[in-house]
Amino acid sequence: MIDCLFCKIAGGQRPAKIIYRSSDVVAFHDISPQAPTHILVIPVKHIASAREVQSGDADLIGRMITAAVQIAKEQNLDRGYRFVINTGSDGGQSVDHLHIHILGGRQMRWPPG
Ligand code: 5GP
Ligand code: ZN
Repeated sequence: MIDCLFCKIAGGQRPAKIIYRSSDVVAFHDISPQAPTHILVIPVKHIASAREVQSGDADLIGRMITAAVQIAKEQNLDRGYRFVINTGSDGGQSVDHLHIHILGGRQMRWPPG
């Protein structure tokens, strides 16, 4: 049994403000929001990062993005939003379970820090 924070949230062993759940995708509010809206979309299955995504995961990744778009719509992010997948240490990844950040509700800057 892997000791993973987001596996525990997906499995209900750790509390989170869950706003979306299907059989293979879960979304919840980030505990330390970096924008007025900051939501994480994860696969229920443990995938450590984008680097571990395999061709067999293509449908799952598609469902994650579809869920993220639907959530952005439900959160009324009509002016736009940003999806982020931090990957590895240079990418700024701090939790080793694949997740899409949905950030919105303010003007995003470019380039990112
Ligand atoms: P990363 O830095 O890996 O791209 O993103 C991890 C995100 O998970 C961070 O934005 C962080 O605030 C969030 N996070 C870390 N621990 C928890 C937690 O226990 N619950 C929730 N809801 N978010 C968390
Ligand atoms: Zn995990």
